[in-house]
Amino acid sequence: MIDAVDLQGSTMDLSRATGSGGVMMAHPRTEKEKVAVSEREAKYRQRLQKEIDEVQRGLAEVEERLAEKGDYSLGEGDPAIYLWEMNLARRERLRARLEELQAAMARLDRGTYEQCSVCGGRIEEDRLELLPTTRTCSECARKGR
Ligand SMILES: [Zn+2]
Repeated sequence: MIDAVDLQGSTMDLSRATGSGGVMMAHPRTEKEKVAVSEREAKYRQRLQKEIDEVQRGLAEVEERLAEKGDYSLGEGDPAIYLWEMNLARRERLRARLEELQAAMARLDRGTYEQCSVCGGRIEEDRLELLPTTRTCSECARKGR
């Protein structure tokens, strides 16, 4: 019995130590709150990773299309130019989105993902679910800061 408890205890400590990503908590939290934070972080991470995968798939697809047309010399007024430009614009959008998502993932690793960049308060959970790359809480967003 005692062995089992000890084993469980050390496993928990290990998972916490690796889960914190080396960032020591600036403000002490209760055990309960720490668990709640790591559960939320796991959820946010999953959400971000899902969209990163989607965006990377989209990028691969658009790169492929752009590569296909790369050998053609397009005449003016060619409808292919319109498609080409559309794909270029799409690639730009996807690249920008990927950067946002990766920056959000980096904030998650640093432990600042839930922290509003303006007031330093906590960004609401439902806001982060809706806007996973936001850096501000809804109050600051409302005030347009
Ligand atoms: Zn704020």
